[in-house]
Amino acid sequence: MTTGTDTLTRHWIDGAWQEGSGSIAVVNPATGQTIAEVPSGGAAEVDAAVMAARHAFPRWAATPLADRVAMVLAIREGIKARSGEIAASITAEMGSPTKFANSVQVGMPMATSKGVAGLAESFPWTEEIGNSLVVREPVGVVGAVTPWNYPLHQVVAKVAPALVAGCTIVLKPSEVAPLTAGILAEITREAGLPAGVFNVVHGTGPDAGEALASHPGVDMMSFTGSVPAGRRVQEVAAGTVKRVALELGGKSANIVLDDADLTQAVKLGLGNCFINGGQTCTAWTRLLVPQSLHDEVVEMAVAQAAKYTVGDPTDESTRIGPMSSERQRERVEGYITQGVSEGAELAAGGSGRPDGLETGAYVRPTIFSGVRPGMTIAQEEIFGPVLSVMPYADEDEAVEIANATVYGLAGAVFAGSQERGLEVAKRMRTGQVDVNGGQFNPLAPFGGYKQSGTGRELGRYGLEEFLEVKSIQL
Ligand code: NAD
Repeated sequence: MTTGTDTLTRHWIDGAWQEGSGSIAVVNPATGQTIAEVPSGGAAEVDAAVMAARHAFPRWAATPLADRVAMVLAIREGIKARSGEIAASITAEMGSPTKFANSVQVGMPMATSKGVAGLAESFPWTEEIGNSLVVREPVGVVGAVTPWNYPLHQVVAKVAPALVAGCTIVLKPSEVAPLTAGILAEITREAGLPAGVFNVVHGTGPDAGEALASHPGVDMMSFTGSVPAGRRVQEVAAGTVKRVALELGGKSANIVLDDADLTQAVKLGLGNCFINGGQTCTAWTRLLVPQSLHDEVVEMAVAQAAKYTVGDPTDESTRIGPMSSERQRERVEGYITQGVSEGAELAAGGSGRPDGLETGAYVRPTIFSGVRPGMTIAQEEIFGPVLSVMPYADEDEAVEIANATVYGLAGAVFAGSQERGLEVAKRMRTGQVDVNGGQFNPLAPFGGYKQSGTGRELGRYGLEEFLEVKSIQL
């Protein structure tokens, strides 16, 4: 077995690093330089990994719960011990600024794994209903497919509850940001996770991803990514009627009511929209404001946006790094150009690179005002630092606009009182709503309505996703 960074560029199957054919370049989006290559796995590698996971399943499922929980906590300790290295890996592979990578990219998986470990003991593993004993058992072999925007968090949000549940896993990480998954594989080995319980196969979605989703040896697919890819996973998985959990995109609305604290609403609202360079599924990308406050809010948002330093992600003072790839930069730019051509007013930013950043996948943080619900930038997920300010006439229209996209992942309400905010939050067709800046809760169910997905991650609901339910009549 080899150690060191070269192991990060191989598949991790059955407790060993495996060479693979084909190669996918991993490019640092700040510099345009290739920093590593990963093999491009396909049906053969996926098959080997699924076989390893199937073989490991009975023993892992029979491992006492306390030992499985201890393993998740040991892996968490491993993440903690290597947090600086992990943050640097994430910054290099997808451009997340150092400060954000250290605090959030590494902090979130620490919080969510601790969360699921902490609730395992009190979880209702068995229940009596009349003469039936209802038992919860691991669903089996889990195929996990993850995106590039939170390369460790998205993985741990699946792996930690799956391990606690007693499942074994084959992960196909994003081919854009695959290196952190290699560090996690090393951590699982160091923690003593038995061979085959956690496997990593690198590759593209259409090759490795679909081979996994269609594999008859996989009992459940847990997918996080875009709507088109999620739809494809569901189609491909249908051939073997497996459970499919989808965490997809969003176009979340932040409804600011007429009695809200505007300073707080704009500061937190813009921060949430620009989080991770806007490359966050829950980003509040639509700021809905009363028509009478529209111009004032736009002015405040523009002043706030000026505080977002764009630049080298390794610089501690950078708040927005490059987009994760040149492809993503072009996509964001395309939407900015389209917003202008559809008649939205450009209040800040615009197309083209920020001054002084002629190389690297940088975009200008952008604010559109006067955005109407029918515009493309009000409907489609841009996945970049682009805010659309949308005026509304009254509360009913605000709710109508908020609900008028195919998505329903997150959202926010800012109101003069919590009661009023709560009333509006209840009318939003979306999986998460924060009222007056309510804090992210790693134990609360996370997932989408409508085309934002099926199923829930995190906490008790996230654990339930990896369990089957059996009724035994006595
Ligand atoms: P993507 O859909 O392009 O890729 C995500 C993963 O799916 C990658 O590993 C990719 O290789 C794989 N994939 C692509 N095509 C596939 C196919 N045909 N079969 C199987 N797998 C396939 O998404 P991305 O660009 O990496 O990430 C951004 C998207 O992810 C955004 O839409 C964002 O909203 C979404 N996202 C959602 C959540 C959530 O929890 N709801 C979290 C983060 C990101």
